[in-house]
Amino acid sequence: MIRNSIQTKPALIRPSDAAAWVSCVRKAWLDQHQPALYEPDDFNRMLSTMGLEHEAAILAKLESQYPVSKATSFEHTQVLIQQGAPVIYQGQLIDEQLGLVGYPDFLIRHESGHYQPADAKLSSSENKKAIQIQLGIYRRLLANRLPAIVFLGDGRTAFLGDEVNAIVDDFIASIRTILDLPQPPSVRYSHSKCRICPYIDYCRPDFEALEDISLLYGIHGKAADHLAEFGINTISQLAVSSAESLPDVPYLKGHKRKHRAILQANSYLNGDIFQLDQAPLPEGTWIHFDIEDNPLTSNRERHVYLWGFLLPPYTKDRFDYVWTDDESHDFDGWLGFLSKIEAYRIDYPSLKLAHYSNHERATIQRYAERYAMNNHPTVSWLLGGNSPLFDIQKPILDCLILPLQGYGLKDICKHPGLVNFQWENKDSGSQWSVVQFNRFQTEDNAIEKQRLKTEILGYNRDDVIATRKLEEWLKSLFAQSPAPHR
Ligand code: SF4
Repeated sequence: MIRNSIQTKPALIRPSDAAAWVSCVRKAWLDQHQPALYEPDDFNRMLSTMGLEHEAAILAKLESQYPVSKATSFEHTQVLIQQGAPVIYQGQLIDEQLGLVGYPDFLIRHESGHYQPADAKLSSSENKKAIQIQLGIYRRLLANRLPAIVFLGDGRTAFLGDEVNAIVDDFIASIRTILDLPQPPSVRYSHSKCRICPYIDYCRPDFEALEDISLLYGIHGKAADHLAEFGINTISQLAVSSAESLPDVPYLKGHKRKHRAILQANSYLNGDIFQLDQAPLPEGTWIHFDIEDNPLTSNRERHVYLWGFLLPPYTKDRFDYVWTDDESHDFDGWLGFLSKIEAYRIDYPSLKLAHYSNHERATIQRYAERYAMNNHPTVSWLLGGNSPLFDIQKPILDCLILPLQGYGLKDICKHPGLVNFQWENKDSGSQWSVVQFNRFQTEDNAIEKQRLKTEILGYNRDDVIATRKLEEWLKSLFAQSPAPHR
């Protein structure tokens, strides 16, 4: 829902504007002028709870070392600073002249008598732009040269000093101009950002009415800007172009990419499927494979809690898996996965392990490195030149143009005109699975714990059934052997 409440006073710049600005300048404007009222989803609620728990843990640690005073207002923060309080919790800083306001989690008194701002962040990296801007603004409000402190989610403590000044300057100059605009700034569509943005219902009709070229899969906003300079502003205009007539522009260079863009425009307009080439699908016995992993571990190394498989003849009861209750059993899960592979290799000599996207292979590589097992015979086979791993997404990206804005497994499988496979649990997804697993870990009731585990297993089982349905759909599509659109 969009609330229409245009502010008339020039807005103070808040460090929290940085996250929106980094993601989309239009979002930064809307957040200030027409904030969307929306309910965060379970995943974001979980992140928020974990963020508060992390902050509370840092607070407890500081309290064990220093007296901590809680600030209740801008004025009270200044009083505490004047008094030289060792640690000020939830400080409030404002500088009307600079037009800046900030709420650092902690202000920590340095031996010089000045204060260092500090924030607790769930992230494991201090190099994210939004974090650098936020902490950089706190430094500006404190007007000293001391570095800001970041208590990161992986347990590290990082420092941000003058090196963040340039990006803070860029942010302040840009955000002032943006917030002063009478209308939200025009931007290009970005599927990865827009589909999870609370303003999508506000923005999408405009993109569609304009037939904005950036709505097309594979067309970067900058490519759309450059095409507009050559008079190609709409999807319809692109659809009737020829690859030869299109200029080489950033993110859209060469005949192949331009040809794909034109077909993608036609697919968007008419729902057509185009086959560019014959897809090389491997022979052998396919076992479908998908993992569920948790990024929110204590050391931020992803823990695979479920390694799932679908075996021939691919009925529901042929779902097989390795499960671990928590990250302390990470190594056991990895060894369990390797033993499953060894058993399948014996049972199915022409085994192909089919998965969607590079995530499964990259995860096996990470685990091999984590446990120094690159030379293990099964690992060498999985990652070597004769690997049984087969990424089904690759022939799709190489050979097909589909009427989609994203080429993820669920985009293709759920589409009624494509694979048309629906997950039993309509709310499920990879973030949903992480939320259920984190609930599972903290749940004491054995019955509820089992229910959560069953739900996660059901979701993973549907993922591997989906890749099987995708295999069947691809094979039937390629068997029809339409004339390739080269
Ligand atoms: S929907 Fe897209 S364009 Fe609109 S504010 Fe969100 S990210 Fe920006």
